[in-house]
Amino acid sequence: MNIDLSFRHYGDAGKDKLRADPSFDFFKFEVIEDGMLLEGSLTKIITKGKNKGDVKYLPEGCRKTFITRDETVAWCEKYEKETGNCAQCFGKSKVMKSWSAKDGTEYRPCRKCGGTGKSTGSNQQPILVQAQ
Ligand SMILES: [Zn+2]
Repeated sequence: MNIDLSFRHYGDAGKDKLRADPSFDFFKFEVIEDGMLLEGSLTKIITKGKNKGDVKYLPEGCRKTFITRDETVAWCEKYEKETGNCAQCFGKSKVMKSWSAKDGTEYRPCRKCGGTGKSTGSNQQPILVQAQ
């Protein structure tokens, strides 16, 4: 599969690997060789005050896992089979182009699915980029 893996891909694949609770999320991502060491905990959404809507990481349910690039690509293939969505943009048909404090997030159409948000099948050859 030709895909540019992001932290979200590693995180979602890691959560799947841990069979984590839906409120679980990772707060630490450390690149190690061909994979990522992930650390997270249970979370809750803040419902009051100036940080309302933000995610709060709880001291409970702390877990770590290591997930390789290959495992993450395999997770993306499974995701496309199960959902029919493009794994690059998660069915959103657009991906982040840039971010700045002034202009916020800018998006561009997803190149993998041509902006359709749909899986293009698994007949493409994988492109593996080795870490330096
Ligand atoms: Zn896409």
